[in-house]
Amino acid sequence: MVSELCAREDLFKSGRCYGVLTGSHDECLEMPEPTDPVRVSTDPACWEFAPGGCGGGEDGGGGAPQGQQIIGSPGFVGKVTKGLGIANRKLANADADCRQLFADIGLAVEDVAATMNATSFVDGTTSQAQIGMLVNQQYANAVGAATVAQLFANSPGLSGWSPPGGTAYLRPSDMSNGLFGLGTNWQLLVHETLHQMLGFQRDDNWIMTELQNKGYRINPNSPRKSRQISDVIKKKCN
Ligand SMILES: [Zn+2]
Repeated sequence: MVSELCAREDLFKSGRCYGVLTGSHDECLEMPEPTDPVRVSTDPACWEFAPGGCGGGEDGGGGAPQGQQIIGSPGFVGKVTKGLGIANRKLANADADCRQLFADIGLAVEDVAATMNATSFVDGTTSQAQIGMLVNQQYANAVGAATVAQLFANSPGLSGWSPPGGTAYLRPSDMSNGLFGLGTNWQLLVHETLHQMLGFQRDDNWIMTELQNKGYRINPNSPRKSRQISDVIKKKCN
């Protein structure tokens, strides 16, 4: 996904900003159209540049350079960084139960880890990224929000929103859990990574139904809703 700054810029809307990483996390360069672009996505326009090129081409979700960005307050960045460290350790040490959990939704644990480490995590409550550009205008209309920050403001129970394209948006307060909020919600990072891999069609309900059918104690109609996915990740991959 394009960087935050890039998403706000008229430049990007005009198709002249290609979201090129320049070292610091949200710079957006105006660049001339490449003479020999490798077109990997058309909506929005995105050309493959070194290093990394554009992600999310298959989904038509446009693109950002590969390479993880974590954007938010220092506290948020610290929590996400810590959560990624824990999640990486859990996934690297996955036992049979943990591997089976991902296999049961058609994924390999190594691919989950690799995707998580290529996904950017952004504070959704402050993100001015345009939902119409991240997904499409019909989607923005359907959720009744123009920006990601509005989506989070309108949906108090929303912990994360992870449209295809390489960026997952998180509610910073939900990165902590457990007693006195001391725990780190690493499982939420894995959960949002699953959405990057499965897309909107295979959404929370699909995941929950799939797991329920395979004998997991998950009920798509439970009031805990999609948090059950995070719970089962924590349980099986601990
Ligand atoms: Zn979910």
